[in-house]
Amino acid sequence: MVTPLGIEPSQCFVAGAWVAPRAGETLDLINPSDGSTLCAIARGQAGDIDAAVEAAQSALNGDWGKATAAERGRVLARIGALVLENTDELARLEAMDVGKPLTQARADVLALARYMEFYAGAADKLHGQTIPYLDGYTVYTLREPHGVTGHIIPWNYPMQIIGRSVGAALAVGNACVLKPAEEACLTALAFAELARRAGLPAGALNVVPGLGAEAGAALSAHPGVNHMSFTGSVGVGKLIQASAAENIVPVTLELGGKSPQVVFDDADLEAALPFLVNAGIQNAGQTCSASSRILVQRGLYDQVIEAMAARYSQLRAGPALDDLEVGPLVSMRQKAIVESFLAKGADLLIAGQGRVNDGAPEGGAYVRPTLFADVPPDHTLAQDEIFGPVQVIMPFDDEDEAVAIANGTEFGLVASCWTRDGARQMRMAKRLRAGQVFLNNYGAGGGVELPFGGTGLSGHGREKGFEALYGFSVLKTVAALHG
Ligand code: NAP
Ligand code: MG
Repeated sequence: MVTPLGIEPSQCFVAGAWVAPRAGETLDLINPSDGSTLCAIARGQAGDIDAAVEAAQSALNGDWGKATAAERGRVLARIGALVLENTDELARLEAMDVGKPLTQARADVLALARYMEFYAGAADKLHGQTIPYLDGYTVYTLREPHGVTGHIIPWNYPMQIIGRSVGAALAVGNACVLKPAEEACLTALAFAELARRAGLPAGALNVVPGLGAEAGAALSAHPGVNHMSFTGSVGVGKLIQASAAENIVPVTLELGGKSPQVVFDDADLEAALPFLVNAGIQNAGQTCSASSRILVQRGLYDQVIEAMAARYSQLRAGPALDDLEVGPLVSMRQKAIVESFLAKGADLLIAGQGRVNDGAPEGGAYVRPTLFADVPPDHTLAQDEIFGPVQVIMPFDDEDEAVAIANGTEFGLVASCWTRDGARQMRMAKRLRAGQVFLNNYGAGGGVELPFGGTGLSGHGREKGFEALYGFSVLKTVAALHG
């Protein structure tokens, strides 16, 4: 298949050109809405990663390394404009590849464009400081790029994650090597093509699709990579951190979550309801910052169950291009994982369930959105990341118990609190263990401007917002003695 943007997906993008993988091998890319094969993609391996890292190093020694901050910003702005111009095509590619309903895929395109706009504007605003020191000295700091940055991303939000990590890294002047997920890499390739058309110098961005254990492992272990940004599972995150330790390079880990929404008796339930459900079923629940746990104070408990169950009964899962509330999961493998969790909940109370839409293709990776109630906080459904359209509701009596349950997993990515009590809002914001806390709303990661990242098993380091520019840069202190 040749994609609408004219990309041949069985190739890698290295040194500004489309090149066949050196070993000449490909993998099939599957459309999870019906199980059909979309196209062949490159099975990049260590040799392709070597070439990509070399191309990135050359870019740093060439035009890209010499570009001023304003020039870097300008090229990012042009990429953002091209992304917007191609909204429909990018959304369609993502819908077919990931199984994401079209409306949600379009939202990802707009987010990618926003990241480009944000980091275009931020590129020339990353300033150093002057530091008062001894008599006769002038001391200042410089923010410099790391050099070659490696980016390994998952399949659930390819465009958003490219925007936040590659966008910020390029704004600072790094040269990037991106390894998209084997299960969804078309928009990463399309992004590379748009960046080429926007005039991004050759080698500043290289994309090598392939398997995690091959291309991914080769990238994270490569001694020529100066910073690693990884988004994905806890297990692979540990391997990435171990490789980074071997090479002594900084690493940003954006891992999973089990993010709670805490609803107190005085909450505005009508305002909360759409957030309670949408944050769990967006992208079929395959969202690191999905809100998979709903904690409700006893006074509202039955009411919340009833209201959420009513919404669940209206949810339909169907093909991405049909644009229903829920698409398929990304793969049959992911469907099997989610179904094994549903089986573990066999003894629990199913409070509400959506359905697979009539006529959804047999070969699609569909599961019924499912809401469990009265779930004990230590149950696997309340502790482990399911990564599917599954939420659990749990009751609590008071603030201390709410905090204990909310903080009672190994994760700490996002949390929210619904209450009209201002003092409680402030207390809860401090007490909830999470990288982002939302008060009377839920952002699933929030906008491009908001720093994002986890604590505990959710990872470390921050991407998004201006904060990301600190992570993607190195601080140098210059002390001049001039008398
Ligand atoms: P994954 O298996 O960890 O894969 C993520 C990426 O790592 C993919 O590109 C994968 O390649 C690659 N990879 C796999 N094994 C590797 C290895 N040995 N060395 C280097 N790279 C390797 O995660 P996933 O199943 O795709 O995604 C789901 C997980 O990601 C969930 O736990 C979710 O919470 C997390 N996630 C977190 C965030 C966040 O921002 N915090 C965002 C999205 C997802 P292949 O897939 O091609 O093999
Ligand atoms: Mg796919």
